[in-house]
Amino acid sequence: MNEVATLQVSDLHKYFGSHQVLKGINLTANKGDVISIIGSSGSGKSTFLRCINLLETPSSGEVRVHGELIRMKTNRLGERLPEDMRQVERIRSRLAMVFQSFNLWSHMTVLQNIIEVPIQVLKVPRAEAIERAEALLHKVGLYERRDYYPGHLSGGQQQRAAIARALAVDPEVMLFDEPTSALDPELVGEVLGVMRGLAEEGRTMLVVTHEMSFARDVSNRVLFLHQGLVEEEGEPKELFANPRSERFRQFISSAY
Ligand code: ADP
Ligand code: MG
Repeated sequence: MNEVATLQVSDLHKYFGSHQVLKGINLTANKGDVISIIGSSGSGKSTFLRCINLLETPSSGEVRVHGELIRMKTNRLGERLPEDMRQVERIRSRLAMVFQSFNLWSHMTVLQNIIEVPIQVLKVPRAEAIERAEALLHKVGLYERRDYYPGHLSGGQQQRAAIARALAVDPEVMLFDEPTSALDPELVGEVLGVMRGLAEEGRTMLVVTHEMSFARDVSNRVLFLHQGLVEEEGEPKELFANPRSERFRQFISSAY
């Protein structure tokens, strides 16, 4: 049987003006895959994630979520745009993104942050949304902080709250863009611990990270991006033990 991939990206290109940032990226994520995306600053990692959830429109190439093609068009000015924003909204609600800078709503408590989208967008009844949010708060170890505002939490707690918020839509794929890079070193472990738990539960995750131990020990596939291309990819332990390209060799030796 030929199973439909959870996420399929084909020959993705992205230009900003004349600057070509992504030069033809392919990626297939099946259910339960945890794929780490690594590479130097400026290699296109964030742009790649942002093209997947259409925060940026790819210049060419295809993105499919569960086989469904995100349709794009070219307008009169020659700009590429999604053809149907309702389709984008619908698909985006199945892809949750966790950012480096947490991006919680600062005027809402942790609980309010988590229930906002389920209630307002997904039309989940309030009592049900709260019940589910409380379960997620237990999962990320923040139940006691549910009525705190983000400004009164540590960075690690804020990021765990952001992960709970992402989980509240029961996403098909979770996209993480350097989720621990803004944290003090002593807070990195608590966030990676939550992410490791999600991986063990079989969540499908794409994780841009500088944490080589996460890439090696938690993910089942690693993509090394260099100047907008996948320079090397494979099963992490094999890849880290036997880097084929010189650039990847240099990258991992500088990352430790
Ligand atoms: P990474 O996340 O790997 O550090 P990015 O995807 O952020 O890399 O950036 C890749 C390249 O694209 C960089 O040269 C960056 O300056 C450029 N870039 C990213 N976003 C934009 C934008 N909105 N407009 C113009 N250039 C951009
Ligand atoms: Mg980035």
